[in-house]
Amino acid sequence: MLENQQVKENIGQIREKIEKACADCGRIQPPILLAATKTVPAEQINYAIRECGITCIGENRVQELLEKYDQLDKSAEIHFIGRLQRNKVKYIADKVCLIHSVDSLPLAEEIEKQCARIGKVMNILLEVNTGREEQKGGFFPEKLEEVLPMIGALPHVHVCGLMAVAPVCEKKEEYIKYFEETYQKFIDISSKKLHNISMNILSMGMTDSMQEAIAAGSTMVRIGSAIFGHRTYGNISDETTKND
Ligand SMILES: *Cc1c(COP(=O)(O)O)cnc(C)c1O
Repeated sequence: MLENQQVKENIGQIREKIEKACADCGRIQPPILLAATKTVPAEQINYAIRECGITCIGENRVQELLEKYDQLDKSAEIHFIGRLQRNKVKYIADKVCLIHSVDSLPLAEEIEKQCARIGKVMNILLEVNTGREEQKGGFFPEKLEEVLPMIGALPHVHVCGLMAVAPVCEKKEEYIKYFEETYQKFIDISSKKLHNISMNILSMGMTDSMQEAIAAGSTMVRIGSAIFGHRTYGNISDETTKND
């Protein structure tokens, strides 16, 4: 685990990189920096919130979120970014404000059911499997059109945008085509003005792909290791494919 001071420096550096990436492509509005906090203890997460201006955090595992939840500073938004099993939705429905990783209609329906029970409308993103990798979660891009009206019909679920998971690429430039395709989907869907579907958030870009994602139009980058250091947490790049 890194010292808090190091975390603060890292966040400063990430912010500079974000600014530079925006300047390089002429963007005015920077993406939101979401801190991906898997394996990070609640005290350090709270430090990042209280002392480094982090406003959104993203957790990957239901169990880990539940263990940290009471201690977490609630002044930041808590998002869920990992693969979510249907039978676990009930544990997090009241605790998170955005689920990035909705990858099937049955999962959206379960979120509907649990949120109807507690009288809440859950903001969600649809996870797009941009690389069309069979072993990974997420909708293939061409599948989105088919599910959008069905998910849009759920009254306790509000689709706010898309989350992209790109394949692990050896060269950074390889990320560009995946992110550009997802951005194009985001724009196409947005222009259709579908019922109960808005396209405000495009969650894409991690430590290794942040600049490319920003150039392609990301509105929210999910950064873990560049802030908190490299963690041994299985294969981090495959995190979204893993079950609890
Ligand atoms: C861990 C994780 C991140 C952050 O990845 P880094 O490469 O550590 O920046 C982003 N998104 C998801 C879904 C993750 O699991």
